[in-house]
Amino acid sequence: MSDQWFAGVDLGGTTTKIAFISMNGVIVHKWEIPTDNSNEGQNITSNIAKSINEKLNELGANREQLIGIGMGAPGPVDYETGIILNVVNLGWKDNYPLKESLEAATSLPVVIENDANCAALGEMWQGAGNGAKDLVCVTLGTGVGGGVIANGNIVQGVNGAAGEIGHITAIPFGGAPCNCGKTGCLETIASATGIVRLANEALLKDGSNGELAEKHASNGNITAKDVFDSARNGDLLAKKVLDDVSFHLGYVLANIANTLNPEKIVLGGGVSKAGDILLKSVRENFEKYAFSSVKDSTKLAVATLGNDAGVLGAAYLIKNNLNL
Ligand SMILES: [Zn+2]
Repeated sequence: MSDQWFAGVDLGGTTTKIAFISMNGVIVHKWEIPTDNSNEGQNITSNIAKSINEKLNELGANREQLIGIGMGAPGPVDYETGIILNVVNLGWKDNYPLKESLEAATSLPVVIENDANCAALGEMWQGAGNGAKDLVCVTLGTGVGGGVIANGNIVQGVNGAAGEIGHITAIPFGGAPCNCGKTGCLETIASATGIVRLANEALLKDGSNGELAEKHASNGNITAKDVFDSARNGDLLAKKVLDDVSFHLGYVLANIANTLNPEKIVLGGGVSKAGDILLKSVRENFEKYAFSSVKDSTKLAVATLGNDAGVLGAAYLIKNNLNL
């Protein structure tokens, strides 16, 4: 076989997604392995190398077919050195030389990037970005991640911390505490965790009846999906939570767009699966706060790649790095 592949790796706290991806962005094969956090994370890169080798054998593929590895990692990354600066849940000590470690284990060139930035590159290359070179990607999951692409390149910032959209302050006074140590970050409102928190607060305050209250009573808890489902069915309390989330998200996104005027802002992550009900409501608020020529030119869209965004973006990263 003369096809050349990249390996895209999306490193997560519990599972690592790996894919072989062709030069033009087609996933040839994808699989997952558990992330082994034990022993200060010393097995993580060797496990990835081993798994890649096993998969090449299994597919009867030639080792020479694989020309490089891109990897998204959950934390701030120094893009030049491939050092991951601090990671809460992978066992590594601060400033772990991830690129060096994976290169040693695989004998292949490796590029590392923050996982939210990888997802943004993936959406730009093969997803909702549809080739747009100026793109902002916001991942609404357990937390809120962000990636800013300007002229086809990730905006890194002086310390690799650009695009931390989840930690833009949405509520300057009296906001809920965020994992980053601040209070009132967008993440405390627009993440799945934030939406559930807001819904629980609303239920406690005035939620004795309605669909969401009934779900809460029968299940003992609710999810962000419950909130969107109930809002779709007309539940007033759920609609109020949705309005609240959409206001803050639309307002923050409008200000980002007023600064960057990207071609598209792509909403991804589990929360974005709510689809139109969220997008429509966020768009209304976005349009209220966007500068008029920004409003006319920056489009909001829902991500299309789902869980594949990270591995595709990682492959794009190494492709770009090798000038291919
Ligand atoms: Zn924060």
